[in-house]
Amino acid sequence: MRRSRTSLTLAAVLLLGACTAGPAPSEIVPREAPAPQPADASTVTAAPSSSAGPAPSCDATASLRPGPLPPAGQMPAGSNMDRILKRGRLIAGVDQNSYLMGFRNSFTGEIEGFDVDVARQVAKAIFGDEKKVQFKVVTSAERIPMLQRGEVDLVVRTMTITCDRLERVDFSSVYYQAGQRVLVRRNSGITGVDSLGDKRVCVASGSTSLGNVVNRVKTTVSVPNWTDCLVMLQQGQTDAISTDDTILAGLAAQDPYTEVVGARFTEEPYGVGIPKGQEDLVRFVNGVLERMRADGTWSGIYRRWLNTLGPAPVPPVARYRD
Ligand code: GLU
Repeated sequence: MRRSRTSLTLAAVLLLGACTAGPAPSEIVPREAPAPQPADASTVTAAPSSSAGPAPSCDATASLRPGPLPPAGQMPAGSNMDRILKRGRLIAGVDQNSYLMGFRNSFTGEIEGFDVDVARQVAKAIFGDEKKVQFKVVTSAERIPMLQRGEVDLVVRTMTITCDRLERVDFSSVYYQAGQRVLVRRNSGITGVDSLGDKRVCVASGSTSLGNVVNRVKTTVSVPNWTDCLVMLQQGQTDAISTDDTILAGLAAQDPYTEVVGARFTEEPYGVGIPKGQEDLVRFVNGVLERMRADGTWSGIYRRWLNTLGPAPVPPVARYRD
C-alpha cells in the first residue's frame, strides 16, 4: 500500500516534469486547421473555350419577333407551348443561391426572386396560373447542358446572351441589362477591377464572369455557386468576388462586412435560355416579355427585388432580327 502511493507520487512528479520541460501551453495548442475550400473549387488559368477557334461574332441580342399571344390555356396545336400545357406544368431552370434573383426563402422553402418571377409570368401566359411551374435548380455551368438535354423547358438564371452560347441554345430578347463589378471585404483598399492585378478572385464556373477577369487578376478560383465565393471571401481564401451587379447586390445584402466597388466593366444582357430549334417558344416568351414591359409587370418585379440597385429603370427595349 505504502509502496504504491510512493510510485503514484513519483509518476505525478514525472508528469509535471514532462510538462514543465515541454513547450509552453500556448505552443501546444494546435494551430487552427485551414478552413476547407468549397467542394469543386479549382484554380483557373485561362477562360475555357467551348468551341474551337476564335469566339464567334453575331448580333447576340437580336431575337425572334413575337406574334400576338394566344389566350392562356389555348396554345396552338402541336406547338411547344401546347406540349407544356398538356404536361400540366412549365419546367424552369433557376438558381437557388442568388439572393434577389433566384434563391430559396428559408421561411417558406419557396424559390423566389426576379428571375423566378419572370419564369412565373411565362407559366401564367401558358396556363393562366403562375403556380403551374416546376423549378429545377441549376448552377451556372449546368444551364446549357440542361437545356441541351431537354431537362428544362427554359432557363431564367442571370444568363448573359453571348454569341458563343447562341451556338448551343437560343435566347429570348433581353429582359434585364446587368454589368460586372467587384465585391470585397470593407476597407480592403480594392477599388475596382483595376486593383485586382495582384489579388485572388472567386467566380462561378461556367459563367461569363470568369472569362471577363481571368487575365486581369493574379489568381482565379472557380466554384459551383456564387454563395461558395461569399464563404471564401469571409474565410479570407479570396480577396474579391467578381460578377454581375445583380448577384453582388444579393451577396452584399447577406454580409454587412462586404461592399461592391468600382464601376461596371462589362455588359451582361440577360435572356431566357431556350433549347435550340424551338422558334415558337422563343417568339412566345418574347411576347410575354413585351407584355410585361408594356403593362408595368416588369417594373413591379424590379421594384419587388432590385430596388437596392436604384429606382426602376426603363425595361430593356427588345431588338428583333426577324
Ligand atoms: N451573367 C453571367 C453568366 O451568364 C454570370 C451570372 C451567373 O453565372 O449566374 O454567366
